[in-house]
Amino acid sequence: MKKLAYKLNTSMLRQLLISVIALITLFGSTVHADNKVVVTASFSILGDLVKVVGGDRVSVVTLVGPDEDAHVFEARPSDAKNLLKSKLFVINGLGFEPWATKLAKSAGYKGKYVIATTGVRGIKMSAESEHAEDAHSEVDPHAWQNPENVVLYVRNIAAGLAMVDPAGASTYLANAKAYVIQLQALNTWAKEKTGSIPLDKRKVITSHDAFAYLGEAYQIKFLAPQGGSTESAPSAKGVALIIKQIQREKIKAIFVENMSDPKLIVQLSKDVGVTVGAKLYADALSSTEKPGATYLKMMRHNVTQLVAGMELN
Ligand code: ZN
Repeated sequence: MKKLAYKLNTSMLRQLLISVIALITLFGSTVHADNKVVVTASFSILGDLVKVVGGDRVSVVTLVGPDEDAHVFEARPSDAKNLLKSKLFVINGLGFEPWATKLAKSAGYKGKYVIATTGVRGIKMSAESEHAEDAHSEVDPHAWQNPENVVLYVRNIAAGLAMVDPAGASTYLANAKAYVIQLQALNTWAKEKTGSIPLDKRKVITSHDAFAYLGEAYQIKFLAPQGGSTESAPSAKGVALIIKQIQREKIKAIFVENMSDPKLIVQLSKDVGVTVGAKLYADALSSTEKPGATYLKMMRHNVTQLVAGMELN
């Protein structure tokens, strides 16, 4: 009888031990999740970059999601709540998200900022761009369309993360370094790919002026009937001019972007008898199942489609 009681006790003890170990594991993982540095990124492309540099140490909230248009974004009350939980707010700058500082102010955000374009050499908006009339946005904000600029983005993000989480500084630096190697590989590949098209055929029509940096990097001329922002509607004169230009220069490469209304460009392509190419990813990534789910994928997709279009010119 005594022996049986002892036996029961051992088995109960073993059960208890297992339960305690399970609890510790559960508790441990919860604690780990809570310890993550919460970072808010203004739009999906920055969200991807913060995830890459932050790795396991960081939890990222993205305000303007995949396929959404950051130019006309309106913050929800839940965005203000999420921002308040963050230690770092990563924005593009160069006038891309005028709503971001308003949101931070109204939410009472007291954390740090990273302006990802810090150090980037800005390209002025073209004189034909309707958006150039707007005094607040003389510099084109779409700097991420050149992978060399994204090297600076990633370094700025690593420095910002190290500032709010010094213990992770070496991790952020290592993650950034590894990613910069991928950006350089992307740039070399894109140079080779676009280099196969003769210079006088490197011309493309897109619905809004988002590719000046890509154009400069790979010597492609981008023409857009819509201005630098998706907000400004093109004038009838602007459309007439672009139709003439398409006909004169025999441009067959016409594209629309994932986050803007394709109506105008579809009409334009009908007027000049040219079919519209695959969607380009301009200011937003795609959802995970589509070809622009990360910055690297989006750039490879864009360059591949642009080259395919320009081959028809
Ligand atoms: Zn844009």
